[in-house]
Amino acid sequence: MGHISRCSPSHKIFLDLSDDLGYSYLGSRTISQDVSSVTGKPQSVARAALNAVGGDQHEACALLMSGLSVAVTGGPCEVASLELGSPAWVGGEGVVSSVGSFAGSFILRFPRYCRERVDLLSLETIEVFMIAASGTQGPHWTTDEELSSPEISAPLDNACLQRKTFKPGPVSFSLEHVELILITVVRNNGSLPPRNSHQSPAPAVDSCQTPNHGPAPSTESRTSGNLAAANLQWIGDLGAGSFGSVHLARTAGGTAVAVKRVRVTSGHEMREVQMLRKASHPNMVKFVDSFSWNSPDGQACVCIVMEYLPENLHTRINGRPLSAWYVRHFSVQLLTAATHLDALQICHRDLKPENILLSQDDVLKVCDFGSAKLLGRGPSCNYVCSRWWRAPELILGARDYRTSVDWWSCGCIIAEMMSGQPLFRGDSSWGQMYAIVRILGTPTQREMQSLVPEQDGQRLAQHFASLVKLRRSGRPWAELLPAFAHLSSSLAIPRKLLTYCPKDRCHPSMLLSAPFLSSRSEVKLPGTSEPKSKRRHQAQHGHLVERNPKRRCLLVSA
Ligand code: ADP
Ligand code: MG
Repeated sequence: MGHISRCSPSHKIFLDLSDDLGYSYLGSRTISQDVSSVTGKPQSVARAALNAVGGDQHEACALLMSGLSVAVTGGPCEVASLELGSPAWVGGEGVVSSVGSFAGSFILRFPRYCRERVDLLSLETIEVFMIAASGTQGPHWTTDEELSSPEISAPLDNACLQRKTFKPGPVSFSLEHVELILITVVRNNGSLPPRNSHQSPAPAVDSCQTPNHGPAPSTESRTSGNLAAANLQWIGDLGAGSFGSVHLARTAGGTAVAVKRVRVTSGHEMREVQMLRKASHPNMVKFVDSFSWNSPDGQACVCIVMEYLPENLHTRINGRPLSAWYVRHFSVQLLTAATHLDALQICHRDLKPENILLSQDDVLKVCDFGSAKLLGRGPSCNYVCSRWWRAPELILGARDYRTSVDWWSCGCIIAEMMSGQPLFRGDSSWGQMYAIVRILGTPTQREMQSLVPEQDGQRLAQHFASLVKLRRSGRPWAELLPAFAHLSSSLAIPRKLLTYCPKDRCHPSMLLSAPFLSSRSEVKLPGTSEPKSKRRHQAQHGHLVERNPKRRCLLVSA
């Protein structure tokens, strides 16, 4: 049987061909379906992984969740990260002399005179660049899931460059005529955050349109507060989620308000109102009023009227790291909000950038108390919190968790402000656990014990067994958040919040005095200063400078 070995930390993986690996389809349909559902990867990818590891289910899961982007499953080839000076066979004995923005790609190295086939398993969407000898037709590609037909560039001096994009799955090509192969992982490959709400673009407060969310609430509405539907002028939609919708309206006095309509279904609708009222704080969205309302189709709703805020943190981040000044400014407010909720023993249970609103002058306010709970003695539901921001103890079924699940989410949010992307992006509930392990490393025995609820020990122990097999060490924070690598004091903030063991998580009030966040801090934030004019500041510093420069041409020494 073939034996796959991986070499850390260079993400290098290669197949030891001294054994004989059969490429027949080894996994039964049921096994590949199992592997697919546990890992959240497509079945074709699960099948290819099973083939690559000789049908061992645990090995296949470990491979799929290993965080590797590309594995070589057949052929005399090795994958290594590409750095300046990496040796590569190009014509003569070449080395890569300039890689432009290809730095961070992988390079496939194969013996110089090898002209066989190479079989890869891509675990993410990849772009493959090939240099083929000039005057040849270039490589012959085969794959299950191609995303684009080959793009052939103008011939280089003595070679031509071809590019092709592949979805996760098996990729196979002949090395005939091929001089050099480079692989770039396409990040952000269309995977959308697991959302529980859909946000509409904010309508202009001044525009007065006919609402497209059904007729304005009629005078049949029963009021329980000072405001009633009839007193509101409906302006537009702000968002829609599984529990209701949020609309922009104007009061008789001309004040813009947000009205969240929650369908009356479970009898818990008023809990959101109670939590919102109880949580009152400058960093919580301000509650104005609530009233009941019957929609034209007879659906009973609770309308929660709140102050209107024009932006949320998700739209502000918009895929790019925020400047250090903003990361500090928003982190301080977020951790202040978390400290306040902890003092009240309110567990928000759905902190994420979409549920964090921003005022025009950058005051941060937590919203969406639809999942919030006043912690008491009884067990709590664990299917809470949007997946990418969900603490490991929730994934593992804890029912006696504390407000530290919110602190984990805060750590995820702060890291997201620093990198522009959610940190742990699992594509299924268990896949989320693997996503965490890929970044933080395998939990220690002590950490595991702090996470697994006793009554579920059996079932989860099995899953954990596959985690232990990975035996991963954590990735350095400077590598995870490269835009902040130069500010080591900033890296301590997510690191102290994102600990497996809930008891090890730093209390948010303690973090407020950390050097990066403290107002007395001597830490200078390079390139950023307090905004003078917000518009000018946003244009200049709201985000770090463009991180996605156009690819430059690949130069290789002949
Ligand atoms: P859900 O429970 O459906 O997620 P939320 O309370 O999170 O509902 O509201 C959904 C979206 O509506 C939010 O992500 C936000 O963009 C917008 N929104 C909610 N409250 C307000 C508000 N007070 N002002 C402006 N926009 C809001
Ligand atoms: Mg929400």
